Amino acid sequence: MLVPRFQLLLSLTGIGSGLHTSIPGTCKSYPGTPSWPSAATWAALNQTLDGRLLQPPPPGAVCHPGQPTYNASQCANVTEEWKTYDFHAANPISVMWDKFDNFTCLPEQNTTCSPAGYPAYVVNASCAEHVKIGIDFARKYNIRLNVKNTGHDYLGRSNSPGSLSIWTHHLNKITYNEGQFKLQGSGKVISGNSFTVGGGSQMYDIYAAADKHNQTIVGGGAKSVGVGGYITGGGHSILAPRHGLAADNVWEMEIVTPGGDILTVNEDRHPDLFWAMRGGGGSTFGIITSATLKSYPSPKVTGVTIMIITDPKESFVFDLITYIVSQMPSLMKQGFSGYNIITKDMEIPIQEPGIPDRVAGFMGKCILQDVDDPEAVSKAFHPINETIQKRWPNRVQFYTTLEQYDSFLAWFDKNYDTNQAGGSLYLVSRLLDGEVLTGNTEALKNALQVGMSGSSRSMEAFMVGGKGVQEATPRGGSNAVNPAWRTAYVHALNGEPFGPFNKSEEQRAKEILEREFQPLRDLTPRGGAYINEAFPFEKDWQQTFWGSNYAKLLKIKRRVDPTDVFWCSPCVGNERWQVRQDGRLCKI
Ligand SMILES: Cc1cc2nc3c(=O)[nH]c(=O)nc-3n(C[C@H](O)[C@H](O)[C@H](O)COP(=O)(O)OP(=O)(O)OC[C@H]3O[C@@H](n4cnc5c(N)ncnc54)[C@H](O)[C@@H]3O)c2cc1C
Repeated sequence: MLVPRFQLLLSLTGIGSGLHTSIPGTCKSYPGTPSWPSAATWAALNQTLDGRLLQPPPPGAVCHPGQPTYNASQCANVTEEWKTYDFHAANPISVMWDKFDNFTCLPEQNTTCSPAGYPAYVVNASCAEHVKIGIDFARKYNIRLNVKNTGHDYLGRSNSPGSLSIWTHHLNKITYNEGQFKLQGSGKVISGNSFTVGGGSQMYDIYAAADKHNQTIVGGGAKSVGVGGYITGGGHSILAPRHGLAADNVWEMEIVTPGGDILTVNEDRHPDLFWAMRGGGGSTFGIITSATLKSYPSPKVTGVTIMIITDPKESFVFDLITYIVSQMPSLMKQGFSGYNIITKDMEIPIQEPGIPDRVAGFMGKCILQDVDDPEAVSKAFHPINETIQKRWPNRVQFYTTLEQYDSFLAWFDKNYDTNQAGGSLYLVSRLLDGEVLTGNTEALKNALQVGMSGSSRSMEAFMVGGKGVQEATPRGGSNAVNPAWRTAYVHALNGEPFGPFNKSEEQRAKEILEREFQPLRDLTPRGGAYINEAFPFEKDWQQTFWGSNYAKLLKIKRRVDPTDVFWCSPCVGNERWQVRQDGRLCKI
């Protein structure tokens, strides 16, 4: 039988007693309050779901002797696994970044552990009907609804304390549609290859399935990122400069709306929802249960590792960095895309004879696709190196390493994101267009200098915009992706970590990120940021994440979700509610 663990916890602590009932109807129902459904009601829900309602213990509880799931040997495993993306993705409630469960149960014995930072119940969905049942229940009982796929989200949108969570992880069927795809409803036939993937599918599974047909899709740089959050945010990719963002490559989706309708949306059927679901943000307009994604012949990939580095003590460090950054649009026009770090001072990631331990400059992991010319890389970088050697003779070292791969998957297998989960950080992002990158050099130099004033002393400058994104032709003519992408070449981003339970360090991280990207904001007054890798506390967030699309998105949100069944932050239409100090979501 399901035990109402929140009810127990809150009655013991006294939290959540009479206080909230004095303002009925203004807050979402919360565990331990009178409006919270009874154990019998939850048990009935479990029955309707064929036993797929979960009440998972906090994953870190195995390390806490007072907890029912305490297990010293499992604790050692969980502590180790906590650093991996796969651990959190495979757990119904765990998320990658500790901050977002409010540090309520870390796998560390000397801290406290309670379930209060996590959803109260989870629908372990394996079909659209399960999702519908969960949404209908949350709407009927006025319960905060959460949507979790992998828990990768950098803005904390996939965890909500005291909620009913829909876990989409097992919606992961992948089907190949060869040659053509018929839209439901209109019957219109789109020619070309595509994959219909479950809303919980993860990048590597799709890449691997596509590779079996010598195909690939526009996908992200980590194996475990999931389709649901990735596509709804836009989805950048090392393949985007050629083929557009992931959201630009969606042909059709099956979604479950806030009203509980299971709909197929495409350019001819519910076109406004189809538009909003591609870039308008996750857990806002509905839950994707499946999506059909255009695929492409897998390219032959030339992997290019580039280092243009100097001594961090050199006075021209920022002139060098600014010059290289200004060359990015030109490099992208020649077919380069990739993930770069620019730094004023960092430890060199690879040890090579003759390279100092600490360096400043540029380090990139780039690719060219389907290029036959063996000289393509040296031709592109020759003029750049020439200028550098002319301006700073013998003071800058230039390295390139080339590797050939027969397919995108072969390249990805060697170059996927190998960073760690666990810990906490906030990010900040700005999309940079050609005017900013190649225009006023002094202004750009100043912005990059301030942009690296945080603890990393570096910044990432991803070449993931460019022609494919700027000239994308999404089905139906457009989608809700931030218009700032349509002029962008570079997605600039930075992060600032902070430790657990340290409010002042967290506040400091926020202040650093707010401050260090201000010059880039000032340089791009009509620009914006990438919602999925952004600063959650952007002051003008509606404009920053959705620009001129915001007004239309808000109208759609109010129509499809008049009572705010879905709520998250920062998300379209969330202005009418706020999370109170006691964790409850209440109307403002
Ligand atoms: C290591 C790492 C690498 C990354 N690489 C890239 C990259 O290369 N390109 C890129 O663009 N981004 C990248 N991201 C950012 C990524 O796009 C976001 O973290 C995204 O939110 C992940 O989506 P998810 O579904 O996996 O995660 P979750 O955290 O589970 O969900 C994210 C958001 O989407 C909602 N959501 C989840 N599933 C659904 C669904 N089926 N329907 C509706 N809403 C849903 C959630 O409620 C939440 O709001 C990366 C992130 C990490 C941590």
